[in-house]
Amino acid sequence: MLTLPRLFGITIWIACGVVLSSRCGRAWGAFGYVFGFLAGFSSSFLLTWLILVTRNLLLMPFPECRRGKCRTFRGYVWRRGSIYGWEKGGSFRYRCKCGDEYLREGNRFMEVLSDRTTHPYKKYQGGKWLDDEPDHNAGGIL
Ligand SMILES: [Zn+2]
Repeated sequence: MLTLPRLFGITIWIACGVVLSSRCGRAWGAFGYVFGFLAGFSSSFLLTWLILVTRNLLLMPFPECRRGKCRTFRGYVWRRGSIYGWEKGGSFRYRCKCGDEYLREGNRFMEVLSDRTTHPYKKYQGGKWLDDEPDHNAGGIL
């Protein structure tokens, strides 16, 4: 799906690639153009991704877990083998200290049940976590 922010991001990544490409190209010739573009594109892509992940981790606080024991990001760990719990499609998977699994998508926090299905848990709105209504779960954030 090509949304406007995504299109905007791709434009910036290509622009970074082109800028670096022309710089390296002038110095190193044909190899510089290719290398410069790839380096510019991938580093700006990584930077965007890092900003998104950091924002997710720092600016979006974690809700109290189902058992009420874990309240901050220190109470949660991300899924093993992933970076910050990142999964495809902009969702993040976490496990709290009680052993329960959660899935974050945008400003929604969902609990992962033992049969691997997700169930709405909390949503972040107006600076605090509110109970999520299952009725409003239709249609994703991204
Ligand atoms: Zn917990």
